[in-house]
Amino acid sequence: MSKNNEVIINTKWIVSKRGKKNAVDPNRPYFWLVEKERNVSGKIEDTAIIFLTNKECSFHCLMCDLWENTIDRSVPAGTIPDQIEWALEQIPEVKHLKLYNSGSFFDERAIPETDYERIASLISSFETVIVESHPKLINEKCIRFRDMLKPELQVAIGLETVHPEILQKLNKQMTLEDFSNSVSYLTQNGIRSRAFVLLRPPFLSESEGVYWAKRSIDFAFDAGVESCVVIPVRAGNGAMDVLMENGDFSLPNIHSLETVLGYGIELHAGRVFADVWDLSLFSSCKICFDQRVSKLTAMNLSQSLVDPVKCKCNETIP
Ligand code: SF4
Ligand SMILES: [Zn+2]
Repeated sequence: MSKNNEVIINTKWIVSKRGKKNAVDPNRPYFWLVEKERNVSGKIEDTAIIFLTNKECSFHCLMCDLWENTIDRSVPAGTIPDQIEWALEQIPEVKHLKLYNSGSFFDERAIPETDYERIASLISSFETVIVESHPKLINEKCIRFRDMLKPELQVAIGLETVHPEILQKLNKQMTLEDFSNSVSYLTQNGIRSRAFVLLRPPFLSESEGVYWAKRSIDFAFDAGVESCVVIPVRAGNGAMDVLMENGDFSLPNIHSLETVLGYGIELHAGRVFADVWDLSLFSSCKICFDQRVSKLTAMNLSQSLVDPVKCKCNETIP
């Protein structure tokens, strides 16, 4: 662990390091896409993701950059269903849907409960709907939403890391017990959950980053999640850039992502995915980069190991 980990990290410090938000339209999602994902039953199917334009998350995690596409105030009731309705007119027909709102779906100030019924009706043709939430906002509202839905509800929760000191420094305002309790609550109510796990949060060396990502996957499955998503930590939100300049954070390497993904898949405890967004950030070798992206994508879709990529850069793995 970095010796310089005495920086006082709190909401005020994190927010003070930010740049400007992007200009977004509260009446439209700020992005949508369709990607392939292996589903629980092993089929590889298209999944649509709608990135809803919403109020900024009430938590201000150190590594989070989702605030960049948010607005400062709550959107009026009816706005989120309107955004979904508009997006569904653009998106090709698919069976699975992720509704990501740059925060917690179950945050009343983000999406009022009065919107649930219309949202449920708009998405009734899907087989699965996945929303994300902070553990502290998982409660009987999830059950009420589930009861209105025709698709199966799944909830994605950021575990981030089980390193006790680093989790605290991330300003997530969550304990491991909060995470376990939320997963248990969802499981008891028949709702599958998935955990977001960080690869190399700040203050860790590359090998520590790998070690703690593996322990975090172990913990998430022990708590009862059905799947894990490994996210290599990026800079770019202001606070992370300051830590990087001070030597308290370095981008993880794509080799480490391969290692952690392979470890998770080999557990055979549930699906494990690597986040493959913007992977060029994590590779300094142009020779093998495309092969490594293909390898990670193949592992995500097959949930099995793929032959190692042979390249000179393997000799310089950090
Ligand atoms: S809880 Fe999630 S959305 Fe909110 S600040 Fe933390 S990482 Fe970002
Ligand atoms: Zn290489």
